[in-house]
Amino acid sequence: MNKYKSDREELVKNLFNKGIKDLDVLKAVNKVERHLFVPASLVLHAYQDSALLIGYGQTISQPYTVAFMTSALRLKKGDKVLEIGTGSGYQAAILHAMGMRVFSIERNYDLFISAQDRLDKMNIHLQLKYGDGTIGWAEHAPFDGIIVTAGAPEIPASLKKQLKPGGRLVIPVGDKGREDMVCILKESEDEFSEERTPNFAFVPLIGKEGWKNA
Ligand code: SAM
Repeated sequence: MNKYKSDREELVKNLFNKGIKDLDVLKAVNKVERHLFVPASLVLHAYQDSALLIGYGQTISQPYTVAFMTSALRLKKGDKVLEIGTGSGYQAAILHAMGMRVFSIERNYDLFISAQDRLDKMNIHLQLKYGDGTIGWAEHAPFDGIIVTAGAPEIPASLKKQLKPGGRLVIPVGDKGREDMVCILKESEDEFSEERTPNFAFVPLIGKEGWKNA
């Protein structure tokens, strides 16, 4: 079980040196076994700070990006968080390790099934859904935080609506593969403020309130 423990510790140091100072996030990165979320052929690369292919043209995000986005959510234990783009399930497992109540949506059926299976085997029980996450998950709204792990052309109105006042939405927005990370704070029911950090690269968010094709 602790086979890659020292690799994980190295990754945590690497993230700290790159500016990730949120101890809860660093602890979760230290705990979650990223090598179990990547294809067998890439296990030896699992603790490098890079995105890796997981099939169907999709990726498990770079650990720095996962840590940056998770810190930006500023959630606390017990908070309810919605993730759009389950992919491998790694980001969801990080949020779960931090004590969040996690809801996650994936639009690729094969990735949805394999993430569900992987998380079940790891005894990580989350609310997962197969479908278009750009319209959110109204039955479980409002959320304390929403994290979108694919790049959007603009901010989906449904996601802003499904955020609690005081909650944050973290979403990459921009041209395909060249996004700004946008962190939106819902100040009140109809007031929002935002912070942008440039230079991220994502696969596209495809759906009703996202890109219409890949
Ligand atoms: N969070 C994932 C992880 O930890 O492995 C990485 C996600 S990958 C960068 C982006 C994912 O978003 C892909 O699996 C893709 O199929 C999914 N996706 C794209 N558009 C979507 C949508 N409208 N709803 C749900 N998932 C979507």
